Amino acid sequence: MIIMSTDASPKQIEVVISRVEKLGFEPHTTRGKERTVIAVVGDQPIKTQSHFAHMPGVDRVVPISRPYKLSSREFIPEDSSFPLDGVRIGDNGIVIIAGPCAVEDRGLLMEIAHAVKEAGAHALRGGSFKPRTSPYAFQGLGEKALVWLAEAREATGLPVVTEAMSPDQIPLVAEYADVIQIGARSMQNYNLLHAAGESQHPILLKRGMSSTAEELLMAAEYILSHGNRRVILCERGIRTFETSTRNTTDINVIPVLKSHTHLPVIIDPSHSTGNWQYVSAVARAGIAAGADGLIVEVHSEPENALSDGFQSLKPERFVELVQQIQRIAEAIGRTVAVKEPH
Ligand code: PEP
Ligand code: MN
Repeated sequence: MIIMSTDASPKQIEVVISRVEKLGFEPHTTRGKERTVIAVVGDQPIKTQSHFAHMPGVDRVVPISRPYKLSSREFIPEDSSFPLDGVRIGDNGIVIIAGPCAVEDRGLLMEIAHAVKEAGAHALRGGSFKPRTSPYAFQGLGEKALVWLAEAREATGLPVVTEAMSPDQIPLVAEYADVIQIGARSMQNYNLLHAAGESQHPILLKRGMSSTAEELLMAAEYILSHGNRRVILCERGIRTFETSTRNTTDINVIPVLKSHTHLPVIIDPSHSTGNWQYVSAVARAGIAAGADGLIVEVHSEPENALSDGFQSLKPERFVELVQQIQRIAEAIGRTVAVKEPH
């Protein structure tokens, strides 16, 4: 990591960047308020000290000790945040994403979208391509669902979060969605991470159910290293010996991630518990632990849902949850994000 002096000139920065490129490395430049930092990324050993330390405009050269580089707090010490249709994710305001597990029916989607918007959600979720454990389970409606999601955005003003399962789905999903989700089962699909990195869409990256925090950050690093800095990390529960819930919410990982990375971190209490009765309690815990947002499954007819009905909150319970989140946010010196008018 090459840290430029506060008074380095644009020309000096340019000369350093072209030297990095000439040596066959990739420069990842962050122009901060005070100074510019250039990460030198590559798989060859490099004598950065001798190559760069004495160049004009360079303050110092520091190795990044973690295996993930661009996603580490060593590289970017401040929280990174980016806009999501009028709110900022990763800022002080808590961002709430809600909607059905899967898009099933146009009318139902509209009803749920209006309900979550009314309750205070900032974005609408809904799966179009569903990664299901069983090949016989509902697999999602594909492009038809994407069209309806875009119509729901039109009707409610809520940006849309939906999953892409393979690299070839990225361009199609990007045509309709505001945020592309990479599901827990795909967290180590490196071709998909590569394609997500080449996309300019924000990516919601869910932690694999058997992945460590470091593996999650390495997966994020794939996306960042291919040019996309807009990554949201999501804790969605991990597998443990406990069987009373679908997964075990790793509350610990929230402060752990917040200390190791500048990327926004959100919590998904729906998949982490698998039971609507526990969703609100765990959502509150996640926000209290420092998460920057929530993604929650909400369904107006959970008993008829084609996937994950048992863990879906009814809209009236979601209303209550948003109010509780407001109080918790206040208690920890945060707020629930307020959308700026266009
Ligand atoms: C989902 O968001 O509906 C989903 C399939 O989540 P995960 O990938 O975390 O299981
Ligand atoms: Mn689901």
